[in-house]
Amino acid sequence: MTISLPTYEDVAAAAARIDGHAHRTPVLTSRTADAEVGAGVFFKCENFQRMGAFKFRGAYNALARFDERQRRAGVVAFSSGNHAQAISLAATLLGMPAVIVMPHDAPAAKVAATKAYGGSVVVYDRYREDREAIGKKLAEERGMTLVPPYDHPDVIAGQGTAAKELIEEVGALDALFVCLGGGGLLAGSALAARALAPACKVYGVEPEAGNDGQQSFRSGRIVTIETPRTIADGAQTLHLGEHTFPIIRRDVADIFTATDAELVDAMRFFAERMKIVVEPTGALGYAAARRMGAELAGQRVGVIISGGNVDLKRFAELIGAARN
Ligand SMILES: *Cc1c(COP(=O)(O)O)cnc(C)c1O
Repeated sequence: MTISLPTYEDVAAAAARIDGHAHRTPVLTSRTADAEVGAGVFFKCENFQRMGAFKFRGAYNALARFDERQRRAGVVAFSSGNHAQAISLAATLLGMPAVIVMPHDAPAAKVAATKAYGGSVVVYDRYREDREAIGKKLAEERGMTLVPPYDHPDVIAGQGTAAKELIEEVGALDALFVCLGGGGLLAGSALAARALAPACKVYGVEPEAGNDGQQSFRSGRIVTIETPRTIADGAQTLHLGEHTFPIIRRDVADIFTATDAELVDAMRFFAERMKIVVEPTGALGYAAARRMGAELAGQRVGVIISGGNVDLKRFAELIGAARN
């Protein structure tokens, strides 16, 4: 099978497609962050995106490209996280049916949020049923199209629009920190940065417990790991994608990791200093930037805050715990 990789032209086309449907999210700055990093830091705040995370960009872009037959039959997605809500909302806005396949033990709040956006939820027993088989059956019986959370050219192109907006708004950057799960956001950001700020070094950041991306980047082949134990639930992916990996290999400068303790510390910083709620995965980029320190001195540094969907009770527990 040959793979067709998205390019910056696809990111630009995605930007036109989502215009007026996705929010153009704010870029925030903080004197305290500048002082901590010794640089000018620009935060692209996707926690303020529709449904609370950047995933709306890729989902809307992918669904907007469906042909008439695909639109009538609708979309199917497997997710218990932000991709579920993104597909559900994008499908509703585009007037097409959506079925989201979720594990039976997914948090009730997430199931409710996904349904509230208009999609229907099908639950499966993750210990006894094979979700691939369920998806295939839906695709065959109803002709629905499966949209994966990251390994798809239209999803990657959509995710790249956040970095495009950031660079267009603040000007060229020297470094850009992007969190990394399956690599859709990172690959899209790298496409945007390479076109709009060629000298900008793009860094991926993933949880230390799940550093498959770093291993893959350094070894030159896609490494698969077991489900990592980390509070960064948006980055618990097992491996990079066939579309994301080659772009990351080509256009990303390096991949770093952050510990759960560093994520909590960054979430606390966002809450205390910037008055914003950031989910653990969304704090990866800043956790790495503040650790890098001296190397960034005097530079212009972009950080993508990827999302803010965290149960408030959980949020309070995390940031309220004793400092470590
Ligand atoms: C999905 C997600 C990520 C990881 O994105 P990938 O494209 O899979 O790398 C990061 N942060 C949040 C909030 C997410 O929902």
